[in-house]
Parts: sequence; C-alpha cells; structure tokens
Amino acid sequence: MGSIALKSVEKWFGNVQVIKGIDLNIQDGEFVVFVGPSGCGKSTLLRMIGGLEDTSRGAIAINGTDVTDHPPSKRGLTMVFQSYALYPHLSVAENMGFSLKVAGAPKSEIKERVEHAAQVLKLTDFLDRRPKDLSGGQRQRVAIGRSIVRDPTAFLFDEPLSNLDAALRVEMRYEIAKLHQKLKRTMIYVTHDQVEAMTLADRIVVLEYGHIAQVGTPRELYESPANLFVAQFIGSPK
Ligand code: ADP
Ligand code: MG
Repeated sequence: MGSIALKSVEKWFGNVQVIKGIDLNIQDGEFVVFVGPSGCGKSTLLRMIGGLEDTSRGAIAINGTDVTDHPPSKRGLTMVFQSYALYPHLSVAENMGFSLKVAGAPKSEIKERVEHAAQVLKLTDFLDRRPKDLSGGQRQRVAIGRSIVRDPTAFLFDEPLSNLDAALRVEMRYEIAKLHQKLKRTMIYVTHDQVEAMTLADRIVVLEYGHIAQVGTPRELYESPANLFVAQFIGSPK
C-alpha cells in the first residue's frame, strides 16, 4: 500500500532547474535513503513527494494513483523534520494526539493511537510530561510519535537527526531502524551522512545536483560505484 513512483519528475525555481528528470520506483515497505551533498536537491525532491512543493513537470504516483496535483493532506504521507518543535504547554500525549484532535477524531481513538505509538517508541512512562522535562532523544521520539498516530502510508524524513549530538544520533538511528522493522511502512529518509545511509537503507539513491548518480543497495554502491562521484561520496575504496 505504500509504493511510490516518480516519473520524469522535474523542479524549476524560476528558470533554475533543481530536479532534472528523476525516475524512481519505491516498493511498499522499502527503506530508501536519498544522499548527496548539500544543495543537490534532496529536500526539494522529498518535499515534492510530500506535496509541499509542486512538481514542475512529470508525475508522482502513490499506490498507483497519480497524486501530482494532490495537496499534502490527500497523499497519506507524513513528514518528520530536523526541527521538531513540540508545543511546550502540552504534555507528550497531547503533543502526539494534537493532529488527530484537530481532525476531529474521537477521544477514545486518539487515546488508543497515542498509547500504541508510545509503546512502539518506549514513551509510555513519559506521556504526562512536558517537552522541557524530556531528553533530546525523547523529544525526537515524540516528534516521530506525532507521525505514527496518523498511521501514514509512508514516512518522509528530512535529516531528522542532524540537530542531535553524535551519541544520540547513533541511538536514534537504531530506533528508526527498529521502527521500520515494527511498522513495515515505506520510509524515505534524506541525509548527507553516508554512515546513516549505509546502515539504514534497503536502497540508496545518490543525488548529484538534480539527477540520480546511482541507485542500489549499500553493498552494490560500495562494491560497484557507478562513477567517481559515487565512489568518493560513499567512501568506497575504488
Ligand atoms: P539539499 O536538501 O540537498 O541540501 P535543497 O533541495 O534544499 O538541497 O536545494 C536544492 C537547490 O534548490 C539549492 O540550490 C537551493 O538553493 C535551491 N532551492 C531550494 N528551495 C528553493 C526555493 N524555494 N527557491 C529557489 N531555490 C531553491
Ligand atoms: Mg536539505
């Protein structure tokens, strides 16, 4: 239910072409990582999939339905960003349930979904706390919890760990890998961190200024980089 297909997707900002015709098929349940240097178009491409940027040319389909002109709310996806502003005056449970409340979901359903998300993320003991009484990693988990409660078809992550210190980043990387194993949902994860990409991905998409330099499993990219750009970026010995 979470397949995503990009067909000849382009993005132009004025007369500058930032995404240069991308074809990509993501399978249901796959963990795909977009990597590449700063400014190569990772966030723009992710935002186009999420519907936060419109698509200048080409088409995006989710589960076989063309969603190119659908607003974000009609795509069934959820985005997790690096800045995870939580509402300081709300508890963890209220933060996680907020979007469901706004959408008018019944209280019992909100409670059930928040408790499930808390269980998955090991936040059950923290549901009554305020964000200021949480660690950085717990706060990031609450931010992910806000997405889980909405039961999305796919998760889109834009460098969700880049504001965390090194030790926490490693811990959260494990948490996200476990989350993927538990939920078995499609995840697209943007990072400029090669180690994150190599450890999390089923497949890595290496972006080079608006086009795909190579797509493959971490092992394929490491052992057979398509060109010097990929080799240098992945840190391959070749
Ligand atoms: P990345 O996430 O890989 O660092 P981005 O997708 O943020 O790259 O940006 C890709 C390119 O598009 C950059 O050159 C950036 O300056 C440009 N860009 C991004 N957003 C806009 C915008 N709203 N208007 C004009 N140019 C933009
Ligand atoms: Mg970016």
